[in-house]
Amino acid sequence: MSYNDQNIFSKILSGDAECVKVLENDFILAFMDVMPQSPGHTLVIPKYKTKDFLELPPKYFPHILDATQKIARSIKKVYSPSGVMILQLNGAEAGQTVFHLHFHIIQRAEGLNYQFHSSKVSDPEVLKKEAQKIIDNF
Ligand code: AMP
Repeated sequence: MSYNDQNIFSKILSGDAECVKVLENDFILAFMDVMPQSPGHTLVIPKYKTKDFLELPPKYFPHILDATQKIARSIKKVYSPSGVMILQLNGAEAGQTVFHLHFHIIQRAEGLNYQFHSSKVSDPEVLKKEAQKIIDNF
């Protein structure tokens, strides 16, 4: 399967769909997951059209890792979870549902039950508040 421009993250990158932004530079965009597994669930995507990690040019590696670590550290400060999970899926068989490469940053703690995917769309105002907490703790 080749890259399909009609995926929702491609539309977010082109400005054709909205997102609650957390961090952006020339290489990456980070934004709130609309169906969070737990409060603060954030996604980091490269500004490069690839469906998965296997085809990502290495020049993006440090930018994705920097952003992912920065957000994970902030999530740790904001929510004080016992764990932070970094998740990245390649291919439908691996559970991937949006075919533009993305890294999930998800806080984990006892009582915060993790499901592979959530089906509950969050209120954008709630996402904006969670995003601001993460941004304020960079
Ligand atoms: P994956 O299963 O790894 O492909 O994860 C895709 C993620 O994208 C899921 O956690 C969805 O909740 C999330 N998602 C889908 N549409 C949007 C959107 N418009 N904005 C933000 N996150 C989204």
